[in-house]
Amino acid sequence: MNSLSDLENFNTIAVMGGTFDPIHYGHLVAAETVRQELDIEHVLFIPSGRPPHKQNKRVAGDEHRYLMTVLATADNPYFEVSRMEIDRPGMTYTIDTIKELRRLCKKDCKIYFITGADAASQIISWKNPQELTKLCTIVAVTRPGYDKSRIFYELMRADISPERFIFLEVPALAISSTDIRNRVGVDKSIRYLLSPAVEQYIQKFGLYKWQPYEESEPVIDEITKKLHYMLSPKRFTHTQGVAEESVKLAKTHGADEKKAYLAGLLHDCAKDYSSKEKLKMCDKYGIELDEILVNQTDLTHPFLGAEVAKDMFGVTDEEVLGAIRYHTTGRENMTKLEKIVYLADFFEPSRQYFDGINEIKQLAYKDLDAAVAYSLNNTIEYNQKKKRLIHPLSLRALEYYKDHLEKAEILLKGEE
Ligand code: NAP
Repeated sequence: MNSLSDLENFNTIAVMGGTFDPIHYGHLVAAETVRQELDIEHVLFIPSGRPPHKQNKRVAGDEHRYLMTVLATADNPYFEVSRMEIDRPGMTYTIDTIKELRRLCKKDCKIYFITGADAASQIISWKNPQELTKLCTIVAVTRPGYDKSRIFYELMRADISPERFIFLEVPALAISSTDIRNRVGVDKSIRYLLSPAVEQYIQKFGLYKWQPYEESEPVIDEITKKLHYMLSPKRFTHTQGVAEESVKLAKTHGADEKKAYLAGLLHDCAKDYSSKEKLKMCDKYGIELDEILVNQTDLTHPFLGAEVAKDMFGVTDEEVLGAIRYHTTGRENMTKLEKIVYLADFFEPSRQYFDGINEIKQLAYKDLDAAVAYSLNNTIEYNQKKKRLIHPLSLRALEYYKDHLEKAEILLKGEE
C-alpha cells in the first residue's frame, strides 16, 4: 500500500474532496467509478478542514470525519486518506491542497479533483479558480439527470475552459450525507447507505443526534427537517400552517412569536406514530392511560407530543410544552400561548372546512377567551353526537370558559 510519501510513483492520481459528514456508499462508488473510467492509479480522499462556505454550519469534528473516511476506505488498495486539509491551519482552499500535491507528485503526474457537481458548480467562488483548473482537471460527479447547462454557463462567465471539467453520472449519488444525518436525528435506519463500520462509529460516538434547543433560526430549520421525516406530507403541511397561524395570532394578541412558531411546529410531532407505538411510548414516558386514552389512543398524541418535544427536540420551555400538551383537549385557565395553538389548529389554511371554522377564526382574532369557549362548545357537541367519550380536561375547560359564550355570540352577531 502506498502512502503519501510515495506519491511520486504515480502517473495519475485523483483527489476525492468533500466534507464527508459522513462518508457514504455514494462517495465510495463515485470514487471507484472515476478511478476505473479514467484509469487512475491512486485515489486520495481528503476530508476538508474549514471550508469558507461552511463557517456557520454544524459539521462533525475533523477527527470524526477523518476516522470515518479511514474506516470506509480501508479495504480498497487504491484508496488512501490524507489529513492534509484538516491539519492545515486556517481556511481550507482546494488550490492550496492541489499546489501541495504538485510538490509531492511527479512533475508530469496528471491530477484530478473529484467532487459533487453541486459543489463544483460553485467553483467561481473558490480561491483562484483559473489557476486551480490549470493545475488539475475537475471531475464533477452527478446523479443521473443533473442539469449541466448551469455549470457551463458559470464556467464561461469565469473564463474557465469547459475542457478542464469532466462530468460523470453516478446513480449511487442519490444517497446524501444530509439525508443520513437527518435519519440519525429521528432514529431512522441508515443501513445499506454507508459501510457498517461507519454506521457503528456514528452509533458509538452518538454523532448527528439531536442538539438541545436554543432560540435561534438554524434550530428551527433542523426541527423542520426532522418533522419532514416524522410526519406524513399532509400532516407536515398542516404543522407549518399551525406554526404560521400561531405567529399571526401571537402578533395580534401580544404573545411571544418565536414560542408560538415553535409550539405550532411541534404540536403534532407525536401524531403519526401507530396506536401500538403510542401505547408503548405512554409507558416509556409514564403517561397514565385512563379509559378514554385506552379507547381513543389518538388522544394520547398531545401528551406524548410534549414528551417527544422535550426528549427528541430538546425543548425545555414549559410554556411551549404546555401549548403542545393541551392543544387538543384545552384545559381550565389556559395560558395565552396554549389558547393560540389550540385555536390555530382549527383553522390553519390547509384545514378542511367544517361547521363553525369561520366563526372560530373570526373570534380568535378578536377575543381569545370567546374563541376558546366557542370552539370547546362546538367540539364537545360534535363528539357527543359521534358518541365519543369526552376528555375530562375538555369538560372542565368548557365549565371554566362557558361565561364567554355569550360574548362570542355578540361578537359574531356584530360581524353579520
Ligand atoms: P458540499 O457543499 O457539502 O456539497 C455539495 C454537494 O456535493 C452535496 O450534494 C454533496 O453530497 C456533494 N459532494 C460533496 N463532495 C462530494 C464528493 N467528493 N463526491 C460526491 N459528492 C460530493 O461540498 P463540500 O463537501 O463542502 O465541498 C466539496 C469539495 O470542494 C471539498 O473538497 C471542498 O474543500 C471543496 N471546496 C473548496 C472551496 C475553495 O477552495 N474555496 C470552496 C468550496 C468547496 P454529500 O453531502 O452527500 O457529500
